Amino acid sequence: MKKTTLLLICCTISLKSFCWGFYAHQRINYYAVFLLPPEMMVLFKPAIQFLTDHAVDPDKRRYAVAGEAPKHYIDIDFYGAYPYHDLPRKYEEAVEKYTADTILANGIVPWWILIMQQRLTNAFKEKNQAKILKLAAEIGHYIADSHVPLHASSNHDGQATNQKGIHGFWESRVPELLAEKEFDFMIGKAAYIDNIPNWVWSRVLESGAAADTVLKDEALLTQQFSEDRKFGFEERNGKVVRQYSSQFTIAYNNMLKGMVERRMRLSIASVAGFWYTAWVNAGQPDLKNLNNKTFSEEDLKEFEGLNAAWKNSFSKGRAHE
Ligand SMILES: [Zn+2]
Repeated sequence: MKKTTLLLICCTISLKSFCWGFYAHQRINYYAVFLLPPEMMVLFKPAIQFLTDHAVDPDKRRYAVAGEAPKHYIDIDFYGAYPYHDLPRKYEEAVEKYTADTILANGIVPWWILIMQQRLTNAFKEKNQAKILKLAAEIGHYIADSHVPLHASSNHDGQATNQKGIHGFWESRVPELLAEKEFDFMIGKAAYIDNIPNWVWSRVLESGAAADTVLKDEALLTQQFSEDRKFGFEERNGKVVRQYSSQFTIAYNNMLKGMVERRMRLSIASVAGFWYTAWVNAGQPDLKNLNNKTFSEEDLKEFEGLNAAWKNSFSKGRAHE
C-alpha cells in the first residue's frame, strides 16, 4: 500500500524539460572556462560557479518574458530543403523576404547569438565586469541550444511523428545518464572565430541535418523495445520518476554513435570560442582591471525574478525546447 502511494506521488511530479536540460547547459558553460587563455582565466575561473548557475537563466526567462522562446530555436525546415538556400542568412534580408512575424514565429536563434556576441564584445570594451559575466553566461546558453538537432526542426518534440518526449530524451536524459561517466570533455584551447555568422549558420545547418537521425533512430529502437522496457521508474535528481529506461537510453546513445557527446563537445568549444573572440575583438582588455565588479540592484532583482517565474513555471512560449 505504502509503495503504491509513493509510486503515485512520483508519477504526478511533472518534470520540466529544457533546452539541453539544466544539467547539460551548466556543464557546457563550466567546461568552456577551461579552454580560455590565462589572460581570461583570471576573470572566468573565479566566476565559474556564476557562469555555471546562470547558464540556465535564458530558460528561466521563458517563464517570465513572452518574447523569449523564439531566441532558443529555429524551425529551419520551414524554409525548404537542406542547405536552405531560400533563407537569407542576413536578418534584414530574411525579414524582407518572409516578414518579421514569420521569421519570429519560426525562431531566431542564429540571429540572436549575433546580437548577444556584439553585446558581449561591447561589455569587454567597457571593461564592465558584471555585464561581461552576465552576457557570457547567457550567450553560452543560446550557442549551446543552436547545437541541438531538435532546436533546428519544426518537429521539435516529435509531436508530428508520435514521439513526444524525444526532445528532453536527447538533450537531458542521455547526458544526465552518461556524460559524467562516459563523455570526454578534454577539448583543448579556445579558437578565434574569424567569421561569426558563418560559424553560427554552419552549426545550425548541422543541427537541422541531424534532426532526422535523432527522430528516425528513436523510432527504430522503439520497435525493438516493449513499452515497459522503454520506460521505467528510475531515479532523477533524487526522485524516482517514470522516464526513458537506462537500457533504452544506452541503446539509443549507441545507435547515435556518440552524436550527443559530439554536439556537447562542440558546444563547449563554440562557447569558449565566442567568449575568446569577443575579448580579442574588444582589444584584449586587461581583465584584472575592470569596473562594475558587483551586480546592480537591477541585475539582482532580475535574477530573483527569473527564479520566481521559473518556480511558478508556466512557460509563456513554446515549451520543451
Ligand atoms: Zn534554451
